[in-house]
Amino acid sequence: MSTNLSTLLMRFSEPETLKMAKLGRELRAKGIDVIDLSLGEPDFDTPQHIKEAAIKAINDNWSHYTPVSGYPDLKEAVCTKLKRDNNLDYKPENIIVSTGAKQTLANAILALVDEGDEVIIPTPYWVTYSELVKIARGHVVEINTTVEQSFKITPAQLEAAITSNTRVFLFSSPCNPSGAVYTKEELAALVKVFEKHPRITILSDEIYEYINFIGNHESIAQFPSIKDRVVVINGLSKGFAMTGWRLGYMAANTDIVKACEKLQGQFTSGTCSITQRAAIAALTGDLAPSRAMTAEFARRREKTMQLVNSIPGFKCFEPQGAFYVFPDVSAYYGKKFGNETIANSGDLSMFILNEAHVSSVMGDAFGEPNCIRFSFANSMENIEKAWERIKNALTKLN
Ligand code: PMP
Repeated sequence: MSTNLSTLLMRFSEPETLKMAKLGRELRAKGIDVIDLSLGEPDFDTPQHIKEAAIKAINDNWSHYTPVSGYPDLKEAVCTKLKRDNNLDYKPENIIVSTGAKQTLANAILALVDEGDEVIIPTPYWVTYSELVKIARGHVVEINTTVEQSFKITPAQLEAAITSNTRVFLFSSPCNPSGAVYTKEELAALVKVFEKHPRITILSDEIYEYINFIGNHESIAQFPSIKDRVVVINGLSKGFAMTGWRLGYMAANTDIVKACEKLQGQFTSGTCSITQRAAIAALTGDLAPSRAMTAEFARRREKTMQLVNSIPGFKCFEPQGAFYVFPDVSAYYGKKFGNETIANSGDLSMFILNEAHVSSVMGDAFGEPNCIRFSFANSMENIEKAWERIKNALTKLN
């Protein structure tokens, strides 16, 4: 029997990152020692003071439905954080908290994009962006970047991609998967282009803000000429090792916030009450555990870069933020393993899973078919073992 499912489901795909993690788990269930470099989450525990705030919230019976947009004191805490870390002035009415930054992004896209609207997304981009645009019946316009240009777009590229149908520009800095981080000067140059196109709303995904290896995080919302049409998206998953807690937030003009509240009121209501209480502790508390985590990621980045650079044919940009390397692996396309030819990044990623027992994510999923994403959110020991195995497996190709 086959069930008649909606046409909506045909428009988008399952996240490639989750698919690879599932394949890795299946091999592991067969007793194979698979090292997971596919998923995007810190391998650290949530800091103690945040856990304690959650335990207190349970004991204090924070167990009821919450306001759809979040508790008022949590929205205050988000404003405090945005002022403290980013020197941005927002009021609680500019804030909505959601079930992860993924929902924040879904809200924003569904609130802004109509059928046929164009959404500009620089490649490589996080898998979910393009799929959400498809759900909204929008049209993705890619701006391609390469390893040679440090995976960052230029103002000229931006200008050339804009048409009368452009509604949204969507990017992440630090970028998942490339690790590119825009400097204040680079953002200022893009802002000059946006000033000429007042219809465009800018979605700025800053979820990797704290995992930055080159200096200060710069938000594009800091430029007064466009601030009112910037939607800042952030959350607790990466910076506080809280992926399972599910809390993301948005800072935007009140029209957009109210629209998102309307959507969220029907989809999910307010996010988990306990998580919200814990989020206040995270956003206003000690950042030392987050800094220590980033320092450890910095050590792993250095080790990973040494190992990747020792692999013939891999061309790798040194990530400036986030916890991934995204080497160009196209030198291996066309090589053979027995009778099979490695035609693309999906084939090579599968070959690495089957032969080296290391999971990764093919670049096609990020709009960049020449690359593969490998996480370094894993122990130093596993990182060393994984890259040794990858190097050995690749020698079997000719
Ligand atoms: N944006 C980017 C760039 C991400 O990598 C992720 C998580 N992989 C998210 C948003 C979503 O984060 P969450 O829903 O866990 O808050």
